[in-house]
Amino acid sequence: MKKTVLVLGSTGSIGTQTLEVLKKLEDQFTLLGISADHDSEKLRDQAREFQPKYIACREKADPAFYPSGTELMTGEKASEQLAGIKADITVLAISGFAALKPLLAAIGNGGRIAIANKESLVCGGELVQTALERYRAHLVPIDSEQSALFQCLQNGRREEVKRLILTASGGPFFRKTREELKNVSLDEALAHPTWKMGKKITLDSATLFNKGLEVIEASRLFGFGADQIGVLIHPQSIVHSMVEYKDSSVIANLAVPDMRLPIQYALTYPERVPSLTNPLDLGTAHDLQFYPADESRFGALKLAFDALRTEGGCPIVYNGANERAAELFFDHQISFLQIEDCVKAALDAYLPHAISSIDDIMEADAFSRRAVSAYVERLR
Ligand code: MG
Repeated sequence: MKKTVLVLGSTGSIGTQTLEVLKKLEDQFTLLGISADHDSEKLRDQAREFQPKYIACREKADPAFYPSGTELMTGEKASEQLAGIKADITVLAISGFAALKPLLAAIGNGGRIAIANKESLVCGGELVQTALERYRAHLVPIDSEQSALFQCLQNGRREEVKRLILTASGGPFFRKTREELKNVSLDEALAHPTWKMGKKITLDSATLFNKGLEVIEASRLFGFGADQIGVLIHPQSIVHSMVEYKDSSVIANLAVPDMRLPIQYALTYPERVPSLTNPLDLGTAHDLQFYPADESRFGALKLAFDALRTEGGCPIVYNGANERAAELFFDHQISFLQIEDCVKAALDAYLPHAISSIDDIMEADAFSRRAVSAYVERLR
């Protein structure tokens, strides 16, 4: 029996690569549904090629451009509606905080969620955890670092783990001084040395907010606290992360940087099958370098560890403020280093308190965005 798969966010970078993997493994998987924000040529092409039973589109879509016999869902809640369809695997490749409600809808169906979205985990916190247990759903990470940790953690029991070591490419600027970072342009921030990704995550890689979110994400996924998570700069992105065990043994996961590999593993786990990714040939001039990730230089990391230690909604504010600041940077309203200032300002203005419902999460998120806007207003 083929496994059924839903791909939420099918036209983005991860979504597109997921469809490539599904095409290669078509004898094992059937694409049951896809979702996207826009009624784009890409979504129409995917619909024609894969003929999924369900298509969800946030904006109004013209059924004439979609195969007859497919069910077209549209509107603000289209992704959530699609996530509510029962499937063996739901791939969550929507970007940003917007993925939280679709994640909760997918969890409600039980089964496996192959998750590429970190913001929903960072913000969902305990609410997501409780829902996972209640509906017997489980998460398999797609994010390359989390996939690496997930694989490395299979080499020992959790009480044997000393710490998780997330690697970070350091982005395009990791050799620059604070002074040099002041006048970094939008184009420079969007030129990532090793990974080709969506715009927001590429910026987050340059600011290191992506790694900050991953620190919190790793804590959510694997249940280790801030003191058992470390970050190491590794510009080549060959070692995708490591787990250090109590006996001082370090298990690492290495592969050519290619998202199709962790995507495939999240689909086929616990099996391994041949992939589209080139083999790693360490015999041909691979110089693997590692540097400490200095929290005093990378403010985004310090803020993430602080938010994780404090909890009380701080991770939600960390994420929301960064999303809002990124929009302002894309809009040329603030400079590169001001992204960090905005997030710090929002966290400073926030009073941590217990988060026990989705409304609490939405409220903390809205607060963070307002706080950033207010901070930027004051700068003028
Ligand atoms: Mg990553």
